[in-house]
Amino acid sequence: MLIEHINQQLLDLEAAGLRRHRRVGMSPCSPRQRWQDAADLLVFCSNDYLGLANHPVLIDALAEGARLWGVGSGASHLVSGHSQAHAELEAMLARWLGPHIPGAQALLFCSGYMANVALMTALGDHQATILSDKLNHASLIDGALLARAKLQRYPHAQLDALERQLRACTSPVKLIVTDAVFSMDGDVADVPALLQLAEQYDAWLVIDDAHGLGVLGAHGHGSLEHFALCSERLIYMGTLGKAAGVSGAFVAAHPLIIQWLVQRARPYIYTTAMPPALAYVLRHALEIIEGAQGAQRRARLNELVAQLRTGLAALVLQHTGLSLPPSWTPIQPLIVGDNARALALATALQARGIRAPAIRPPTVPVGTARLRLTLSASHTAADVDQLLGALSNILNEEQS
Ligand SMILES: *Cc1c(COP(=O)(O)O)cnc(C)c1O
Repeated sequence: MLIEHINQQLLDLEAAGLRRHRRVGMSPCSPRQRWQDAADLLVFCSNDYLGLANHPVLIDALAEGARLWGVGSGASHLVSGHSQAHAELEAMLARWLGPHIPGAQALLFCSGYMANVALMTALGDHQATILSDKLNHASLIDGALLARAKLQRYPHAQLDALERQLRACTSPVKLIVTDAVFSMDGDVADVPALLQLAEQYDAWLVIDDAHGLGVLGAHGHGSLEHFALCSERLIYMGTLGKAAGVSGAFVAAHPLIIQWLVQRARPYIYTTAMPPALAYVLRHALEIIEGAQGAQRRARLNELVAQLRTGLAALVLQHTGLSLPPSWTPIQPLIVGDNARALALATALQARGIRAPAIRPPTVPVGTARLRLTLSASHTAADVDQLLGALSNILNEEQS
């Protein structure tokens, strides 16, 4: 019965063009990757925004980290898995966020998914209301559903709707929760205005900066650096598997919030600590991000974003049914609406040696299927031209 039930649902997904498949990569993360079922492809879908995932300095640092610390932590942080390598990384992250959250401490997690579930469940108790942007990442949504708090979702980026909810909210603890850079659209939340609302209505502002850390701010310290914000009311979550190129995540916040997470956050307590060798290599990744090399990579990334947007905007004018929402980040969505058309575009690109994923519901709202293009500082201008040329040819053939 279970198997028949599942099989029918899989067939339904297939029929709706929504069934997902994994591809087997045969070479490290880079703009040009080899796959088991295809030759080399030029890829526009990784979150390796600064090209650090396969950086030679970091490969050596990971090997050195393993020589110093072995390959595993052996236990959870509260048992015996917490090491000097973790503590030093947390101290560095606290220094990054300190100018924006006075006295901030940082706490490492194995993934951003776990950090968000931890934050929502440990802070969102029965006294709390979570006010969450409708387009927030799945991990924030799941965490909020698991929490004992009341959950209110506000329409994407509509701060007047959020303000009405805040005004009517009687909970003693109010948590406004938002992605800083929205993961499927690439638009940036109005964090200063959100913080002002938090201050005005005695709320806290939880920022998920998965796509901002490393990319935004003069030193790559993320969206709070970009907006030059400073407040004790900020609770910051950054991930270390995207621009930082490795794996893991952290929360930076008021010391008492961090202490509470250590006591109560189940995704922190009941899991094996990140291998210390990863914490070790991450410190080196952060050094690259905040130094001259990081600044250069961010500058190059911005040039590529401008080049891609100019080209996509021209395609949107020439062809019907396409739209390009405003985004100045390395996440660029070309919305086509229909699931089948998005899939056909992705398939045609693949036939031309380019991988750009069709993102369909339920990852994005129904009717907004899209090609989600992401750029990395290790792409070249010629790579972006190749993508634009291929898209132009495919769209012309679609019309004829
Ligand atoms: C990727 C992502 C996460 C999850 O981070 P992982 O470290 O990959 O688990 C959380 N929030 C947003 C907005 C993301 O894009």
